[in-house]
Amino acid sequence: MTTRPAPQPSAAAAESGRAGSLIRLVNLDKTFGEGSARTWVLRRVSLEVREGEFVSIMGPSGAGKSTLLHVLGMHEGGWEGEYHFLGEPIHALKPAKRAELRNANIGFVFQQYHLIDDLTVYENIEMPLSYRNVPKAERAGIVADVLDRFQIVGKKDLYPRQLSGGQQQLVAIARAIVADPKVILADEPTGNLHSDQGREIMELFRRLNAAGTTVIQVTHSETNASFGSRIVRLRDGWVEGESPTGTAPTTES
Ligand code: ADP
Repeated sequence: MTTRPAPQPSAAAAESGRAGSLIRLVNLDKTFGEGSARTWVLRRVSLEVREGEFVSIMGPSGAGKSTLLHVLGMHEGGWEGEYHFLGEPIHALKPAKRAELRNANIGFVFQQYHLIDDLTVYENIEMPLSYRNVPKAERAGIVADVLDRFQIVGKKDLYPRQLSGGQQQLVAIARAIVADPKVILADEPTGNLHSDQGREIMELFRRLNAAGTTVIQVTHSETNASFGSRIVRLRDGWVEGESPTGTAPTTES
């Protein structure tokens, strides 16, 4: 993988941003439906994540974890409140500027993978590099390195429908990290992997985190959460509490 320069924060961002703050939510509300059918999925969520943290979001099913991650990933609109990313006020930005920030800085692992059906494994993994304007000639080496690292070289010309759920999940993770994002947002990233593979992915996230990448994952697994340093617990859309994690498992490599 290579390190690519991300766009510099604007002067306004530099002024309003806090040193080291990557993400700051202030009283964020998210609702679905209207009128009497309106339901609150996120309620006055305030949260700060600093650059270089590894945070796990936990809570019962339906608590709003995926919705929160999608808001952070700038996929989800229709929320109210403040969201600052690298000091940029996302709540005040137009969709095109949000997309630019997302493409330059965020690698997202979707729970349902969301691979593009009519692109091969190779092409799916290559896609974020094209968003970052990495020259075609350079992309080949980067994708080859990631295919090798994930031990999926033999699958590179297959289409997603020709892969098992676990293999699709690996490709989705490979796609999320290939462009060396500033932050990885991962929604149950090991849900369909064997326990050994799941542990390898957590080890990979930990190595990337040690090298400076911020990681935020949604997980039901206390073991996976123990790879991070902080747990944010959600219930019924509210942040119920935060706690440091216990001792992380020892690193093998
Ligand atoms: P979690 O990830 O904690 O299981 P979700 O964020 O997926 O929770 O969902 C939180 C709540 O929001 C659930 O009650 C869910 O039914 C509701 N919800 C999620 N997406 C939608 C949607 N597109 N329309 C209506 N309700 C939704």
